[in-house]
Amino acid sequence: MDVAQRPEPISERPTARSASAAVAAVAPPSPAAAADPAVRTTGTVPGTVPAPAGHPGRAAQAGPPGPSSQSGGARPAGELADVGIQLLAPDGTRVSDPRFTALADHDLCREFYASMVLARRLDEEATALQRQGELVLWIPCRGQEAAQVGSAQAVGPRDFIFPSYREHAVAWHRGIPAAEVLRLLRGISHDGWDTHAHNMANYTIVLASQTLHAVGYGMGVLLDGAVGTGDPERDTAVLVYLGDGAMSQGDANEAFVWAASFGAPVVFLCQNNGWAISTPTSRQSPVRLSRRADGFGFPGLRVDGNDVLAMHAVTSWALAHARSGGGPVLIEASTYRMAPHTTSDDATRYQPADEVASWAARDPIERLRRMLARDVPAGWFDEVRTGADDAAADLRRACLALDPPPAATLFGHVSAEETPDQRAQREWFTAYRDSFL
Ligand SMILES: [Mg+2]
Repeated sequence: MDVAQRPEPISERPTARSASAAVAAVAPPSPAAAADPAVRTTGTVPGTVPAPAGHPGRAAQAGPPGPSSQSGGARPAGELADVGIQLLAPDGTRVSDPRFTALADHDLCREFYASMVLARRLDEEATALQRQGELVLWIPCRGQEAAQVGSAQAVGPRDFIFPSYREHAVAWHRGIPAAEVLRLLRGISHDGWDTHAHNMANYTIVLASQTLHAVGYGMGVLLDGAVGTGDPERDTAVLVYLGDGAMSQGDANEAFVWAASFGAPVVFLCQNNGWAISTPTSRQSPVRLSRRADGFGFPGLRVDGNDVLAMHAVTSWALAHARSGGGPVLIEASTYRMAPHTTSDDATRYQPADEVASWAARDPIERLRRMLARDVPAGWFDEVRTGADDAAADLRRACLALDPPPAATLFGHVSAEETPDQRAQREWFTAYRDSFL
């Protein structure tokens, strides 16, 4: 898309008509959604969905910071029920939404399930490896598998992903070797996988910095003329993940401004997992995070992040919107961190037990299992679990076999071409290090 031809800023969320039309352009409506008698046709988020409990409300925020104000209070019931766009309820029942239709067929739903089970099992194994001293740190993604797998599935072959540091399920679903994800956190390398082989950048630990990288990449895509051509072999979008805490960072907000100003084809996917380490989301924002997009002039949508079908459908729409020249989109995936922030954190000091329990009842894997169990034999679920256990054993072996690269690689990839100063530093360092051998 020509930058000068970017669309007028959108001051409202997409209307039901525009969003559904766009979804229809991505893929035809799922016949299953219309034909399945189990599909609810409420058209809105059903009131029967168990609401997450325990998030402190604004009243609690009026007091001074402290454990009591962080864990007390509750949102009004109406807000509690606002899980966002949902296509699969926690009890495994399909839900009809006026704007979005599930795009995944039965086989893809099984693939989603297997991928989420694998991610959780590998996440558990990596946590154990850290506890046994084999990793410096681990950043669990437990509870966020649907937000990650569903969105990762929507990524096209030319699209590029910028993760934060918790997107293990994205990486594994994209086929990145499991142990490559551990390389950085084993403390032997500055990076992990070959970013260009997988169209996925390495992790960034510096909060929200990847949002600026993503917008820069997206502006490059614009300059390459690879947006809005109508050629699916050419049009490209960027998907960048950030957390609810990162939404408060200056970098993220600068990225929003730049993306909106230039119509960059960037989908910002905020996994709102309820906590920024020990700070609840409600302390960071008096409004739903998806509404932040209104102020920047692009669509913002809140999605049930524990619903893999909704995450897939909405992210597919958003990426198609970006590729077509529609500009950026913000997706707020409402999910929950069912683990500490990292293995250096003790979440039991601040996460209320009843809140954790209420979100456990909304588990993303269990809800899909309930849906599939209607016509998938029980033995298949056992096979998935056994396969995940085997993969975890492979991950352990591969992790222990990860050797540090030669120390001089520290100097690699600093510049496109090594400068004389860099060469001198590398040679001095190598000689110094070799003097100890
Ligand atoms: Mg968070």
